[in-house]
Amino acid sequence: MTENNNQQQSIISCQLINKSYGNIQALKNLSFDVNWGEIYGIIGPDGAGKTTLFRILTTLMLADSGTATVDGLDVVKDYSKIRNIIGYMPGKFSLYQDLTIEENLKFFATVFHTTIEENYHLIEDIYRQIEPFKHRRAGKLSGGMKQKLALCCALIHKPTALFLDEPTTGVDPVSRKEFWEMLMKLKAQGITILVSTPYMDEATLCDRIALILNGEFMQVDAPQNIIAGFPEVLWSVQTNNMHSLLKDLRKHHSVKTSFSFGETFHITVENGFAFEELNVFLKNNGHSDIEIQSIQPTVEDCFMQLTINNE
Ligand code: ADP
Repeated sequence: MTENNNQQQSIISCQLINKSYGNIQALKNLSFDVNWGEIYGIIGPDGAGKTTLFRILTTLMLADSGTATVDGLDVVKDYSKIRNIIGYMPGKFSLYQDLTIEENLKFFATVFHTTIEENYHLIEDIYRQIEPFKHRRAGKLSGGMKQKLALCCALIHKPTALFLDEPTTGVDPVSRKEFWEMLMKLKAQGITILVSTPYMDEATLCDRIALILNGEFMQVDAPQNIIAGFPEVLWSVQTNNMHSLLKDLRKHHSVKTSFSFGETFHITVENGFAFEELNVFLKNNGHSDIEIQSIQPTVEDCFMQLTINNE
């Protein structure tokens, strides 16, 4: 980090990034800035463009147009400098399956002209959990252990910024929680983290998030601001017959939108909505065990709402 860059507010900066694969436009005019020391989440479903964005920012792929910098360095002109100051954990497991935990880590340390010992303090908390298995081949590790090893390898050269592409996809809920606790500790050490995830519940753990769909950012803000700006009144509905509930909800004149949310449906409603009337309507349509509750929105509700508004 240079003295000059220290004065910049943003460490990652993108202007009007476009990328197409044939006639699929994966990224459309993306512009955003990540501030020093924040955890910034790129939140969106499969195919939204997350990996494409990460590959461009980590200098592994060229954008068709637009510019991007990391710590003031240009992703095209200064690609080799950028590779030295970032840590990248790709979505697909990137480690050498036939090498052991220790060999993988040594390999990544050597590539960056460092040693495990030199930066052990950075990975200690994480590595301690997999160290007892250090002679086990990476290919034989559980998803959670692979994820910890991949994070250690991304950290071993003391990067200024970490790029984590879907680090928790396919990982069990306990390991996901532990992983986010590790990210909080890394943030406390001053490392900036750009992380992508399809799990909306992880969005609230970020300082700021960008909600991405079809290569476009629908909204960028702190998660609590996005939730506070939810423009509708939200209810959850559950009955004994979830199969026909969606069809029936869509028939009701007060229901504006409805979508499945875990074991319930979330609905937005017209002004003057009377839940007792919906209760009677559902009873008349053969439902029982009806539960209708007013609820607070989550990031997922906001995402769904934006998706509808963008259609
Ligand atoms: P995400 O990481 O959010 O799942 P991707 O960046 O992988 O999204 O993909 C964005 C879009 O680009 C998708 O429609 C995907 O099918 C398409 N895509 C990604 N990589 C390629 C490729 N190598 N060739 C053709 N299409 C691709």
